[in-house]
Amino acid sequence: MLITKRHFHKSSANLAFNLRTILKENKSDGTGNSKCTDHHEHEHSHHKHSPLLVQPDYPVRTRFAPSPTGFLHLGSLRTALYNYLLAKSTDGQFLLRLEDTDQNRLVEGAEDNIYDTLKWLDVGVDEGPIVGGPYVPYRQSERSEIYRKYSDKLLQEGLAYRCFCSKERLDGLRDSARLLKPPTTVSYDRHCLEHISLEESNLLAKGGKSFTIRFKSPDSYPEFTDLLHGTINLQPQVNPTDRRYEDPVLLKSDGLPTYHFANVIDDHLMKITHVIRGEEWVASTPKHIALYNAFGWEKPNFVHIPLLTTVSGKKLSKRSGDIDIMSLKKKGYLPEALVNFSVLFGWNPKRELGEKTSEIHTLDELTKTWLLSGLTKGNAKVDWKKLDFFNKHYLSEKLKDSSSDFFKTCVAESHQNLSRTLKLDNLDVTKVEEVLKMIYPSLTTVNDFDTEQYHYFFVKPAYDKSELLSKLRVNEDVLKVISQELVSHLDKLTHSSFNATIGEILADIPSLKKRAVFQTLRYALSGPQSGINLPVILELLGPAEVNERVVAFDKYLGSE
Ligand code: GLU
Repeated sequence: MLITKRHFHKSSANLAFNLRTILKENKSDGTGNSKCTDHHEHEHSHHKHSPLLVQPDYPVRTRFAPSPTGFLHLGSLRTALYNYLLAKSTDGQFLLRLEDTDQNRLVEGAEDNIYDTLKWLDVGVDEGPIVGGPYVPYRQSERSEIYRKYSDKLLQEGLAYRCFCSKERLDGLRDSARLLKPPTTVSYDRHCLEHISLEESNLLAKGGKSFTIRFKSPDSYPEFTDLLHGTINLQPQVNPTDRRYEDPVLLKSDGLPTYHFANVIDDHLMKITHVIRGEEWVASTPKHIALYNAFGWEKPNFVHIPLLTTVSGKKLSKRSGDIDIMSLKKKGYLPEALVNFSVLFGWNPKRELGEKTSEIHTLDELTKTWLLSGLTKGNAKVDWKKLDFFNKHYLSEKLKDSSSDFFKTCVAESHQNLSRTLKLDNLDVTKVEEVLKMIYPSLTTVNDFDTEQYHYFFVKPAYDKSELLSKLRVNEDVLKVISQELVSHLDKLTHSSFNATIGEILADIPSLKKRAVFQTLRYALSGPQSGINLPVILELLGPAEVNERVVAFDKYLGSE
């Protein structure tokens, strides 16, 4: 079977899945047309590590190269993290490079969002647009001169050429390529290479005729090694009767470089040693390698990491909850939780035989323990429940110390939010503090504190008898008896005497069920909300408020 780039055309959404298809198909491929050596052919590739993934024993240079075409999402965060961690775990440098040459796709605020997100997560960059560094500028839109210099070099050497073809001509070529049998995804016919000499081309350019610069792509793309996937050989499908060429555009007619060109030039000039990026870029890599070869440059090591999927294996999308990181911050998620959550999408910590590993990883610890060899080909499932798990863990850790700034900030913010939500002008901030001190282990995010689940600590709950009756499974008369019992024990309904009091009530009227007494008291105090232990509720509300609520509930029952 010929493994071709045809698998990779159309939307990048399918690329990663197709890569997997290609890797699989290649295993049963006996033709030798294309090789994609998987070193774990007969093992479950999901959790197996590639032997090529050896932790470098020298300081590496990695980069995170986002395009400011949208806000930073989970997938980009994971890419940034792996690059950051590889650099840090080898005492190397982590660069931030802004790939903003596609002026039409820039999104307002996206650049700042990248800086804000990394800062919030505490992922520090050693070189980048704001911090600078030895290879400034780190914003591609400011590097046009550099790209022009290198495209001129390729032009002079005959490795690139100007293309003056009109859009209409190129569209026509693309349409006709699609109609070929078999169709081909590369469509250019090299008209401008074959019919225009360099002198002519120089003159036309001087005369102001619009052009792009195309790379003269090799007859076949070199195969390359991906440290995670092994040897990959991807060739465009070509129709032998109507030969077309990929010849990717390096400089667009506006003089700005394409992603491929700028990416290769900058990775070389910035001395990047390792490129860790999403599988969606694997189809571009042969072009990149051909460019490195054309310049005679050493290429970096490539690692293409699996695309994030939902638990059921579908591509992660907005609908499946993929939102930008800063909006997760607004939802109350902590940076520690997001880092811990993301780092496990296709990476496992080192484990000695028989040793149990913890799922909890802080960024600080990861910078010391993260190993390239922990990357896996699968396992990039995003289970949002896990984010809740990590958040609950870190939130609880951080709120343990009520003298910390974090705790104080949470109190201040919750006080503000609760006052607004509950329309309370004089909510006592120490009350908020006391409640938080007791209930924090049950919070998933601090935002949960300002939800119905905890509002009863600050305002009286609303009652609905039928709701309670169906829960208690007793009739109304029994409910009234319980309620009156509670009223007659009002002075003993405190945190410390709670158990004894319930015991007394049950001794008074042995036919009552303990569970029903508990639940009635709970309902009187917190309405339908559950989750916090009754003695804790009694303590936090205090005797006066407990009395008021028990009496109010009894009245409510009687007035019906
Ligand atoms: N600018 C590309 C992006 O937006 C970078 C891809 C790469 O890492 O080469 O993801």
